Amino acid sequence: MLTLIEGARLVATLDDRRARVPDGSVLVRDEVIEAVGAGPLEAKERIDRRIDARGKLVLPGLVNAHHHLPQTLTRNVPRVQEAPLFRWLSELYEVWRGIDEAAVDVAARVGLGELLLTGCTTTSDHLYLFPRGQERLVDVEIAAAREMGIRFQPTRGSMSRGQTQGGLPPDDVVQDEETILADSRRLIREHHDPRPGAMTRIALAPCSPFSVTDGLMRRTAELAREHGVRLHTHLAETLDEEAYCQQEYGCRPVEYLRRLGWLGPDVWLAHCVHLSAEEVSLFGETGTGVAHCPSSNFRLGSGIAPVRALLEAGVPVGLGVDGSASNDTSNMLAEARQALLAHRIGADPSRWITAEEALWMATRGGARCLGRDDIGSLEPGKRADLVLVDTRKLSYAGASSDLLAALVFSPFPAPVDTAMVNGKVVVEGGELRGVDVPALVARADAIAEGLLRHASRRTGRDYFEKG
Ligand SMILES: [Zn+2]
Repeated sequence: MLTLIEGARLVATLDDRRARVPDGSVLVRDEVIEAVGAGPLEAKERIDRRIDARGKLVLPGLVNAHHHLPQTLTRNVPRVQEAPLFRWLSELYEVWRGIDEAAVDVAARVGLGELLLTGCTTTSDHLYLFPRGQERLVDVEIAAAREMGIRFQPTRGSMSRGQTQGGLPPDDVVQDEETILADSRRLIREHHDPRPGAMTRIALAPCSPFSVTDGLMRRTAELAREHGVRLHTHLAETLDEEAYCQQEYGCRPVEYLRRLGWLGPDVWLAHCVHLSAEEVSLFGETGTGVAHCPSSNFRLGSGIAPVRALLEAGVPVGLGVDGSASNDTSNMLAEARQALLAHRIGADPSRWITAEEALWMATRGGARCLGRDDIGSLEPGKRADLVLVDTRKLSYAGASSDLLAALVFSPFPAPVDTAMVNGKVVVEGGELRGVDVPALVARADAIAEGLLRHASRRTGRDYFEKG
């Protein structure tokens, strides 16, 4: 099928030349971009579908490099609104231990829907808490993503170091190494698609230095490399984590990972707020990627990642909205704006992050983190993952001197007009196709309230009140 997206006010390709094409068109054959050009772009064959892009900005679909979809059910929980990471986690484990397949299904649909509506066409997820009897939660997310049409690279997360082993999580939400590795193998076998254009890929993601044993870290890396899948974890998010690593392992978090064989071009790490100059260089030399999550880092008071230094060192830096208990939205455009603003206070203006760099991280950087060269830009041969933003909105009035920058400086809170994933339109006229949003929200609210009530009863704490 041939699709012509025509008459766009601007096509921002985010290709290596960062080409911008006014009055541009994009020709799509089935799932792949065939041409990008100025003016009317006609194929020799009949055009099956025409998408009117007048007044609109066309750009590649954004790539979200870090999320915890189930957390959409635990947004702005009063008890932890003012909690830093370790207390926030300890309190929320008690709520998350109540999740089941119905909860993950609704939570995934909420988060994936928000991502699509804010321009994201590929996302990762990091699901690491599997209550007893709930071992198929990643499968539930995959089914939801397929139905909603988003490109999905979930990670099989894990926790193996409970409180009695000196870890942070309660013992009954962690799993033993054999169970984790067997399920990781199963997920790769059943869902991982290594082919170009894949809609589903699996990566392996032990949760963090303070919730996983070093044995599991090593064995997970071996398993991933045996199967050619990528590795992901949280790292250097807070100074509490740094102190924990010094105490437990006698070294800093990055050194801990280095010893475990966990640095390399097949690894991307969330946060990386507290890095030394040497550690930044080491990431550059090893090709280790970073998912920068500024909103979450601000929300939890964790700090500001050294993104300019990471970019200068050649590190693949993507953006992640992070879980919705610490953001508390899956808005990719808002995250790009946060990345634009986060690095200015106290920094030399020549080192500030630009709007184009923020979008570059949100597209090309994220694609590199996820190990993909078939998405992230609008170029012939790449997958047809793209979004259209209607610039005829009040937020963009007076901004036509640099429309691409306007997306980041002034992200319109309303959804993108159109989102196409792998040649298929999944957002049209600013609405998710085939999703009854009010019904979805009602279902999410009911399950979320049940989770908080259950946690309040079990712990004797009131999760509906400030902690
Ligand atoms: Zn996270």
